[in-house]
Amino acid sequence: MSRILEPIKNVGFIGLGNMGSRMANNLLKAGYKMTVHDVDTNVMKKYSDMGVSTKQTPFGVAEASDVVITMLPSSSHVLNVYNGPYGLLQGGNLLRPRLLIDSSTIDPQTSRKLSASVSNCTLKEKKENWESPVMLDAPVSGGVVAAEAGSLTFMVGGSEDAYLAAKSLLLSMGKNTIFCGGPGNGSVAKICNNLAMAVSMLGVSEALALGQSLGITASTLTKIFNSSSARCWSSDSYNPVPGVMQGVPSSRNYSGGFASKLMAKDLKLAVASAEEVEQKCPLTFLAQHIYTEICKDGHETEDFSSVFRHYYSGKSEHD
Ligand code: NAD
Repeated sequence: MSRILEPIKNVGFIGLGNMGSRMANNLLKAGYKMTVHDVDTNVMKKYSDMGVSTKQTPFGVAEASDVVITMLPSSSHVLNVYNGPYGLLQGGNLLRPRLLIDSSTIDPQTSRKLSASVSNCTLKEKKENWESPVMLDAPVSGGVVAAEAGSLTFMVGGSEDAYLAAKSLLLSMGKNTIFCGGPGNGSVAKICNNLAMAVSMLGVSEALALGQSLGITASTLTKIFNSSSARCWSSDSYNPVPGVMQGVPSSRNYSGGFASKLMAKDLKLAVASAEEVEQKCPLTFLAQHIYTEICKDGHETEDFSSVFRHYYSGKSEHD
C-alpha cells in the first residue's frame, strides 16, 4: 500500500548532543515546527531560550509530533527513550506520530525489535493510506561537520513507502539518502561501512609505518598507493600521516575528526552482530581490539587515524 504523507509540520527531536543539535538546527532553519527533549537541562534551556518548545519526557514529545527523530549515544539509550517510563511508546497501543526515525548508531537487532513494537501500535488519528505508525532506522555517515553543513548521508531501513515519505525531511539534514531494505538494514549498512573503514585505515597505517621503517617516506609511498591498487579513502582523502595531506585530522594533531571511542563503539556492534549470525570476521575482531586498546591508553577523543601514531608508532613526515 502506498503511503501518501501530507506535508510533515510537527517534528519532535530527542538527543540534542554533538550531532542531534546540529541536525535539529537545520530542521528549524527549514521551517519545521519543532518540539525537543534531552536529559541535559542546559541543552533544554538553550532551546527554550531560542523559542523552541521543550518537553520533560519523550512521551511529551510524541504527543506533540507527527514525526519523532532520535539521535542518542547507544542502544540502551534508544530502548530507554522508546520503552522506558514516559517513553515514546508509553501511550500503550495508541501513538500520535506516524513516523519514528532513529538516527543513532545502534545494533540492527534492537532496530528490528523496536520497529516490530512500533508497527504493532495503532495511530491515534488514522490518516488515509496510513493506518499504523512506522519506524525507520536511519543512521548517518558524516560527523559533526557534515551535521552542521546539512550534508549527512542517511542509510535507511524499514518500509520503502515510509522511506519515501520521510525523504524530504531527511534531506533537510543531509545531501544523500540511501534505502537499504527492510527494518534494521540501515543499522547493518552503518556498522558494515565503519568496519570496512576501520580495517582499511589499519591497513594503510600498517603499510605506511612499515615503509617508513624500511626507509621510504610516507609521501612517496602514498603517491604510489594513490596511483596503484592500494588506493582508498584512507590513503587519498584521510591520510593518517602528519604532513602528507592538509586539512585532515592527522595535520592538526588528530583533532576534530571521528573519535577513536566512536570507532571502538561501532566495531563492538559489528563484532556482536557477527557473533550473533556466526559470521567469520577476524579483521573486525582485531580492529576492535586495537581501538579498545587505544582508548584505554588515553587517546579516545583523538581521531581514529591516530592509530598510525599510537599503535604503529609511525612518524610525522617532518620528524
Ligand atoms: P552525544 O553524546 O554528543 O549526544 C547524545 C545526546 O543524547 C546528549 O545530548 C545526551 O544528553 C542525550 N541523551 C542521552 N540519553 C538520553 C535520554 N535517555 N533521553 C534524552 N536524551 C538523552 O552523541 P553524538 O556524538 O551526538 O552521537 C549521537 C549518535 O550519532 C551516536 O549513536 C553516534 O554513534 C552517532 N554518530 C556520531 C557521529 C559523530 O561524529 N559524533 C558520527 C556518526 C554517527
